[in-house]
Amino acid sequence: MASRLSSLDEKLELLIEAACDEASPGEERLVRRLDLSDAIYHAAAGGRRVPILKVLLSNACQNDCAYCAIRASASVPRCTLRPEELAAAFASMVQRGQVRGLFLSSGLCGDARRTMDKLLATAELVRKRYLFRGYVHLKLLPGATADQVEQAARLADRISVNLEAPSPDRLASIAPQKDLGALLSLLEEAARLSRAGKGLAPAGPTTQFVAGAAHEPDRELLQAADMLYRKLRLERVYYSGFRPVPGTPLAQAPALPEWRQQRLYEADFLLRDYGFRWDELPFDEEGNLPRAADPKLAWALAHRELFPLELNKATRAQLLRVPGIGPRSAERILRLRRHSPLRDVSQLQACGIRVERCAPFVLLDGRRPSAQLPLFAPDA
Ligand code: SF4
Repeated sequence: MASRLSSLDEKLELLIEAACDEASPGEERLVRRLDLSDAIYHAAAGGRRVPILKVLLSNACQNDCAYCAIRASASVPRCTLRPEELAAAFASMVQRGQVRGLFLSSGLCGDARRTMDKLLATAELVRKRYLFRGYVHLKLLPGATADQVEQAARLADRISVNLEAPSPDRLASIAPQKDLGALLSLLEEAARLSRAGKGLAPAGPTTQFVAGAAHEPDRELLQAADMLYRKLRLERVYYSGFRPVPGTPLAQAPALPEWRQQRLYEADFLLRDYGFRWDELPFDEEGNLPRAADPKLAWALAHRELFPLELNKATRAQLLRVPGIGPRSAERILRLRRHSPLRDVSQLQACGIRVERCAPFVLLDGRRPSAQLPLFAPDA
């Protein structure tokens, strides 16, 4: 559909809306709506949560991904901003105090390299003309060259590549023009630069799956995520829950239930921070995580032979397997018990431990922390 949008604000609103349609979970977007251009989400940047403008340079796209609202065959108004227009609009939002970061992506508007060049030109203007020193996240487009990846890594705090699906077959079923091998190579290059310790894209590389779009079980997503964390040292994998978009081939497909998305994130934490491997996670016969209990509790309940664990003797790795004990509280336990054995529930509470949650699985100086709590209570 030809663009009939005339004002910059109208175009900007459309491009922000298109970008927000693919917002990652956990992002609080559209926090305020003071005027047309005020669609903002909050994300962690440099350890703090800051308001970030997420926007596309163009919502025109030559690809026809089955889940996407702006796919080539969708009948929607299209528009593309010039790098100068978008950089100036962003700089003015920064000046007004509305945003403190930029997340920039684009549809594939004709030649991928040319589109990527325009994204880079926008980021360069933001950095060099408007001297913006805050958070910039650049999405790498399929087809970006090695030179473009390096330039993006110089300009941005974070660079990312959306893999969308965990295997070539799954990807082909929802995004036939995308090549998982090529996307992975791009992500590898992004990770190599970001992890080289030369200050390039220092916030680390990320990716995103459209969880549930290709009917893939949780196991496939988490196996892929585990590989990405171990081999590429990815900073984060995001699971954007599939939502059907009217007018697309997947319009009648079911949305990913919120509880499944939550379970994916909980399991992802176990892979990243708790030393779990994907094949230890408690999948059912269909390869999905259970609804009834979070994955760590479900794992512990399935491994009762390993519990109860004596908190004064358990290793860090063992502590991390106990429901209610996280990386920080495990460190505090190890620190405290260097001086003297832990004996009191109040010491566990001081370590930030949810005692009612861990009590069925531990011994404190030879005794259960609370005799009142039932052993292996399913809802502990
Ligand atoms: S490449 Fe696919 S997901 Fe990305 S904008 Fe185009 S149609 Fe949408």
